[in-house]
Amino acid sequence: MVSQKLQNNLNNSSWIRAMFEEGEKLVNQFGEENVFDYSLGNPDYEPPYQVLESLKKHATNGKNIHQYMNNAGYIDVRKQVANKISKEFKNNVPNKNIVMTCGAAGGLNVVLKTILNDSDEVIVFSPYFAEYKFYIDNHNGKFVSVSTDSNTFEPDLKELSKKITSRSKAIIINSPNNPTGIVYSEEILKNLSKVISKKELELGIKILVISDEPYTKLLYDNIKIPHIFSYFNNSVIINSYSKSMALAGERIGYIAVHPKLENLELFMSGLIFANRILGFVNAPSLFQKVIADSLDISIDMKEYQKRRDFLYNNLIELGFNCIKPQGAFYLFPKTPIDDDISFAKHATKYNLLLVPGTGFGCPGYVRIAFCINFSKIKKSIHSFRKLAFDFDMVPSNLRQSSY
Ligand code: PLP
Repeated sequence: MVSQKLQNNLNNSSWIRAMFEEGEKLVNQFGEENVFDYSLGNPDYEPPYQVLESLKKHATNGKNIHQYMNNAGYIDVRKQVANKISKEFKNNVPNKNIVMTCGAAGGLNVVLKTILNDSDEVIVFSPYFAEYKFYIDNHNGKFVSVSTDSNTFEPDLKELSKKITSRSKAIIINSPNNPTGIVYSEEILKNLSKVISKKELELGIKILVISDEPYTKLLYDNIKIPHIFSYFNNSVIINSYSKSMALAGERIGYIAVHPKLENLELFMSGLIFANRILGFVNAPSLFQKVIADSLDISIDMKEYQKRRDFLYNNLIELGFNCIKPQGAFYLFPKTPIDDDISFAKHATKYNLLLVPGTGFGCPGYVRIAFCINFSKIKKSIHSFRKLAFDFDMVPSNLRQSSY
């Protein structure tokens, strides 16, 4: 019954399932409190109190709140989202340029459905969010990956230039990045924009920049994030409240389209139609109202900052080689052996669940999602220490201390 394509995709993502099953085994054997599950990017907080208050209010007082609506979403909600984006962009983004979606994942599928002809190419920088591959394939596009620098994770612009062809339709960028936590600076965006414009002229094509931004509110050290619309006219922003308001299960987000995008009207009709025929129909009605009430509210970053600093400092001390994340809630250290899958398997010996970089198109690293509580993070250092000892990573001055 199951299509060959889906079976192939299932097999290609089997290491995620293997990790999940391994985690379940460990929990059964050692108890949940003794397993350090760093594998899932699922915020462990409750949503902010104002969000829950708004939910109560709309669930009980809203009139006609549970009905079908325009496939793009409530007009008042789109207006408020557009106002917020206009303020951030410092230019007007009309409400008709907003489509409310079922999370960022829904938004990505809607955009890809709208733009892709069979075998059109979509460029993604590795390491990348593993689902991109499947989303592109959902709409018969061709996935093309371009490397990044192995230390800074900045896009390799020479490789990008080579890989843009007459079939290139879009480039997905993701900053703050999952899995590395890096934030694209103004300079990176300007350089990207130069390469894209040059290739567009040379090949007579137009490339859509799809900026996947579910982590834009999760920033450390007061870093400012440049606004994508300032660098690419042919661009869309895809955002969600999964991470910023800890609403991942409620599936609420939006697509915002640059006011200067070519053939804007047709493009908007395409998005709205795609939202409908992909079976989303419209974004969840109740949560559209809730997020519109809460646009200026985000989860408190102090706790994430504490976790990031503690884990990062400890791992560096133990000899891990890792870039300090500027956003999101992931660390992406290099593995001391090339085989990241073996390394992640070995880590389970100490009840540590880490995700091999191979799953993100970037072997030789592991992803550590620090969405677990601080006391568990503290307890897990003992396991990281054992792991580091096994691979001879620990600097000589620390080797004396027993574990
Ligand atoms: N894009 C990236 C980079 C992500 O990390 C995630 C979720 O982890 C998503 C998109 C999907 O987010 P959502 O829950 O809003 O669909």
